[in-house]
Amino acid sequence: HNHIDHATPEKVAEAIAAGDTHAHVPGYQDYAAYAATGGYGALKALRGGARSPDEVQDELLASGLRGLGGAGFPSGKKWSFVRAEPGPRLMAVNGDEGEPGTFKDRHYLERTPHLFLEGMLIAAWAVEAQTVFLYMRDEYPAVLEILRRELARLEEAGLIAPGFVELRRGAGAYICGEESAMIESIEGKRGIPRHRPPFVAQKGIFGRPTLVHNVETLWWIGRIAHDGPEVLSATEKNGRKGLRSYSVSGRVREPGVKLLPAGSTIRDVIAASGGMAEGHELMAYQPGGPSSGLLPATMDDIPLDFDTLQPHGTFIGSAAVVVLSQADRARDAALNMLRFFESESCGQCTPCRVGCEKAVKLMQAERWDHELLLDLAKVMEDASICGLGQAAPNPIRLMLRHFADEI
Ligand code: SF4
Repeated sequence: HNHIDHATPEKVAEAIAAGDTHAHVPGYQDYAAYAATGGYGALKALRGGARSPDEVQDELLASGLRGLGGAGFPSGKKWSFVRAEPGPRLMAVNGDEGEPGTFKDRHYLERTPHLFLEGMLIAAWAVEAQTVFLYMRDEYPAVLEILRRELARLEEAGLIAPGFVELRRGAGAYICGEESAMIESIEGKRGIPRHRPPFVAQKGIFGRPTLVHNVETLWWIGRIAHDGPEVLSATEKNGRKGLRSYSVSGRVREPGVKLLPAGSTIRDVIAASGGMAEGHELMAYQPGGPSSGLLPATMDDIPLDFDTLQPHGTFIGSAAVVVLSQADRARDAALNMLRFFESESCGQCTPCRVGCEKAVKLMQAERWDHELLLDLAKVMEDASICGLGQAAPNPIRLMLRHFADEI
C-alpha cells in the first residue's frame, strides 16, 4: 500500500525519473550480459529437440527441487500432472511474495532476472503452455520495471512471441499468493481461494490445465539447466540435501537473503547473518513465515528444511526467518501474526474470518484461556477452506507449548 503512487507503469517511470529511491532499479544482469555467458543456450537446445520433457522432468526430480513458494511440492511431479491433461495448457508464475519476512524472490529478480526467465520458459516448454501469466507483487516497482524491460528484449531477440508472457500486477492482497486465489485474480475476479478438487493442474486458469510455479523455483530450474542438477544435490548438511534461500530479519547484524545448506539450524542462519545484533541474545525465532509461529531458543539444533520441522508442529514454508531477542515478547509477535491473518483473511469461510478475529481478542487477555483457544484452533484447522485459516492457529499452539510463562 505504500507504493500506491506507483500503481501504473507511467507512474513508475515518472518516479524513477524523479529519483524515487523506492522505484530505483538496481544494477542487474540484463539480457546482453546473460546471453554473453551462454544464457538461453539451454532453452534453445531444448526447443531444438536436444532432450525430451520427460528427460528434463527426471533431472528435476533427481535434483530434489521442491516448490519454494511454501508448500514444497516436488517440481518435476507438477509437470507430469499438467502434462497428463489434454491441451491447451497454461502457466502461471506466482510472484506475489506477500509472506511477512519473505523477500527472496525480490532478491533474485533484482539481480539475475534472466535465470528466472529462462527457467520459466523451460517450464512453459515442458508443458507446452500457450500463455504464461506472470503475476507480480505490485509493491516491487523495480522488479516490475526490470521484467517489462527484459521481456521486451526477449521479444526483440525472438525468444518469445509478443503476448506470450502476460505481466499481471497484484493489488496488495496476501491471499492472492494462494494459487487458486491468484488464478481467480488473473481471471479478473475477486481473489478468493477455490475448493479442491479439482486441482489447478486439471482446472486452473479459465478451466484449463495450469502449471503454477513460484519465482524462486523457476530461478532454480534456470540454474539447473545451466549448471546441472548437482548445483542443488551436491550440498549436504545434517543429513539434508540441497540449498535454501533464507530471508533473514530481526535481531541480527546483517539481515538479508542467505543461501545456505538446507540442513542449516537457526544458529547457522544467525552466524551467516553476522551474528546477533549488539546486546541481543536469541530468545525465539520464526522458522518460516507467520503461519510457522515461534520456536524457543532452546530448540536451536533443528535443521530448517522441508519435513524436519513437522514433528515440532511447524514447517519451513517460504523460509522467512525472524530472529527475536530478550528485548521482544513472544506473545506480542504471536498476536501480531494473528492480526495479520485477521486482516488478510479473504472472509469467504466463517472458521477463518470469525476465528482469526476471535483469536486476536482472546490473545489480548493478560492470561490466555488455553482450553478455549485450543478449541478455536481445532475448528479453524479442520473447517477452513484454504491454508491461511488452517495454519493461522499454529502460532497459538506453539505459544501454549513453549511460552506458557508469558501467557
Ligand atoms: Fe478465505 Fe480464510 Fe477461508 Fe482461506 S481460510 S478461503 S483466506 S476465509
